[in-house]
Amino acid sequence: MTPKKLRCDTCGKETDQLRRDVVDQGYNALNKTPLWNCETCYEKKRAQRQEPPR
Ligand SMILES: [Zn+2]
Repeated sequence: MTPKKLRCDTCGKETDQLRRDVVDQGYNALNKTPLWNCETCYEKKRAQRQEPPR
């Protein structure tokens, strides 16, 4: 079996492990295509989300 290569939807990097981005959980989540992020992008987005706007 060949290992399945996964690709980050944000930076395009190939990685063994991806995390599904569930940013908009709660609103319009059902209409959105889930984004798959590598560990780096996932953490980056999570950090941004935790910052207060402005
Ligand atoms: Zn990435």
